[in-house]
Amino acid sequence: MPELPEVEITARRLDEALRGAEIVSALAPGVNALKTFDPPLSALAGQHVGGVRRRGKHLLVDTDGDLSLLVHLMSAGRLQLFDKLAGPRDRTSRLLVRLAGGRELRLREFGTKQAAWVKLLPTDAVEADDAIASLGPEAWPAPPPLGGLLDVARPLHPLLRDQHVIAGIGRSWVDEILWTCRLSPFKRGDDLDADELARLREAIVDTLDRAITHYEGAVKLPIPDKLPMPLVVHRHEGEPCPRCGTTLAAVHFEDYVIAYCPHEQTQDRLLKDRRLSRLLK
Ligand SMILES: [Zn+2]
Repeated sequence: MPELPEVEITARRLDEALRGAEIVSALAPGVNALKTFDPPLSALAGQHVGGVRRRGKHLLVDTDGDLSLLVHLMSAGRLQLFDKLAGPRDRTSRLLVRLAGGRELRLREFGTKQAAWVKLLPTDAVEADDAIASLGPEAWPAPPPLGGLLDVARPLHPLLRDQHVIAGIGRSWVDEILWTCRLSPFKRGDDLDADELARLREAIVDTLDRAITHYEGAVKLPIPDKLPMPLVVHRHEGEPCPRCGTTLAAVHFEDYVIAYCPHEQTQDRLLKDRRLSRLLK
């Protein structure tokens, strides 16, 4: 599940490795992940990679010919660099960018869903594209004060994961952030006082910062299929809270699980699944 820290380290590593590389050809095999047709992928041939960067949970590969590949990995995609071309039987490939010298940048997707997507856009059209224009402010490194953003009657857990509200946080890191600032996943955005808003903002920056720092030391090329996510709360239900020792709890909602410390986040109350689905409406 790539979120802001995972996409950020991917962008940094690919930027270091690809800057200046010449593109030989590009194609989108199999089921078409490519959502644009003009300019065509063939327009990339002969251009050089100018850089790789992140916007929200999106990756952008910019060329010296003022084109940009906008990539959304969704839940199971990876953008990876290989020293060899993909074999004809690689069914995970959604986009192949062949580079001079035999290397290949590959958008791969694992699992049964085919949700990852790519757009090829003029670089100066990226910010106006719906996927980018609809994003809220970046959660890292310096989000704006949260008061105006979160002043709505929605629980924090879905609110912070809403990319239109704030960009980059997903279902893994939201658990870590809310645990860090000791806020209930179900506290409503418009119920936060000034101190809580400040604590939450600090927790967002610190948590994402720590994750990126961890990846800086741990992630080398080739970027592995599974990144070593340094999570202490998400998917750790049943284990002792690393801060107070209380058993971490979890509630299931739709197809995901929210983990939290009942002692520090919900005043020793265990949240029931039924109550959660009502609250999250
Ligand atoms: Zn605790």
